[in-house]
Amino acid sequence: LTVADIMIRDPPTIRGCATIRAAAATMIEREVNHLPVLHADGTLCGIVTSWDIAKAVAGEHTMLDEIMTKNVLSVSADATLRDAAKILDKYHISALPVVGQGKVVGMLTSEQLSHIAERR
Ligand code: SAM
Repeated sequence: LTVADIMIRDPPTIRGCATIRAAAATMIEREVNHLPVLHADGTLCGIVTSWDIAKAVAGEHTMLDEIMTKNVLSVSADATLRDAAKILDKYHISALPVVGQGKVVGMLTSEQLSHIAERR
């Protein structure tokens, strides 16, 4: 199995110039904990998670680019699930944007990985 088999396709995303409030609203509306942050041209520039929103609430931040993680790790759709799981485990993160030809084509989360583990 590869990342393409279980990733969330066309995931919700947000622009880096958005407010933290807008990111929080998108997460609630789309029921996700992770949002890839995109440049104007659609390329990946970061990731924001519900953990980062908690950090923002605890601190004094307004704009998303103050709290998002800028050196975001990503995978390609043809990566194996084992390789993706290794990255999640090694870096203590729970989601990876899936990138193809410079654009975000999906999201792989530890939630998806645990669903697949349960089915097998
Ligand atoms: N272990 C918990 C988890 O997996 O969500 C939270 C703790 S950790 C501090 C989460 C941090 O990792 C957040 O600041 C988040 O922005 C960052 N992060 C999440 N996914 C990432 C990814 N694919 N690449 C780089 N950083 C990521």
